[in-house]
Amino acid sequence: MSRFSRFFAALGICGLTTACGTTYQLPELGAGQSDTATRMFAEARAEGPRQPLSAAAAERRFQRVAARIQPTGRRYCETLAREGSSIDCNVALEIDRKMKQRNAYFTYDGKAPVIRISMPMLQDSASDDEVAFILGHEYGHLIGRHIQKQQQQALAGALILGVITAAATANASSYNPNTVSQSMDLGAAAGSMAYSQTYELESDTLGTRIADAAGYDPVKGAKFFARSEAARTTAGNLSFWGTHPPDAKRLATVLATKQQIDANIGLQKVQ
Ligand SMILES: [Zn+2]
Repeated sequence: MSRFSRFFAALGICGLTTACGTTYQLPELGAGQSDTATRMFAEARAEGPRQPLSAAAAERRFQRVAARIQPTGRRYCETLAREGSSIDCNVALEIDRKMKQRNAYFTYDGKAPVIRISMPMLQDSASDDEVAFILGHEYGHLIGRHIQKQQQQALAGALILGVITAAATANASSYNPNTVSQSMDLGAAAGSMAYSQTYELESDTLGTRIADAAGYDPVKGAKFFARSEAARTTAGNLSFWGTHPPDAKRLATVLATKQQIDANIGLQKVQ
């Protein structure tokens, strides 16, 4: 164990390279899933732009899907929570009526967990399966404890750079506390980015299982990834279109997870 690792282990937080990975194993991806994902992309692009739903139809779709995803997501979350970490699985599902972008996110309203999806995203959805997958994906961020892990990583990143800079400036003729503080901000940003892509894939894996358990088709739902770039937004952190891995990889992850479900292979914890 390096001096830094011991330092962070002593503090009870994760370092940048260990202990903050995913809680659950991601499925292994093969050429088969990649080929299918590529084909689905081509099909979705050939379909052209979608006709947006009316606000009333979008509202009905949300109510219909939320009524099925919420009890399933809660049960799924509670089953996994019993095996380990304490998670409040009683999540409110809401429409974010102010957000102008197509997006969805998981957050805490005070201490209460909440999943919100924006009206433009609902209006842009092509099926109940898509909304079910999106809501399931956001449950994945809760179950994977991604917000807590991101905070720990930001702290670890800040401390690492702070310590390095302090050591560097201590050797210099004058010590500048501003330099240390700026480095800590930079480290926090780097730390919180480090695992965001694997968290998205973990959320996709969990979202696939939740959507499937609620009776939806997660593969059809994941067609959201195959839409054209023009439909994207990059707004928000820990949101559906936040800092994300390539969409083909996400779709392949969904396909591989569905194959696991069909083969009765359960979710496996990372050892
Ligand atoms: Zn996400």
